[in-house]
Amino acid sequence: MTGSIRRCPRDFTYTLRDTCPVCGAPTTSPHPARFSPEDRYGHYRRIARQWMK
Ligand SMILES: [Zn+2]
Repeated sequence: MTGSIRRCPRDFTYTLRDTCPVCGAPTTSPHPARFSPEDRYGHYRRIARQWMK
C-alpha cells in the first residue's frame, strides 16, 4: 500500500491522478498516511486543556 489513491474534494471522485478527471480540481489524499487513534485523543486533550484554563 503506497497510499497513492487520491480523491477530488469537490465531487469525491477517487482517482490516482493529481487532478480530478471529472472537474479538473486538484485532488487530495482521502486519509493521512499515518493515522493513529492516539493522535485524536491528543487533539481532544489539547482542546480540553484550553477549556480548562
Ligand atoms: Zn472533481
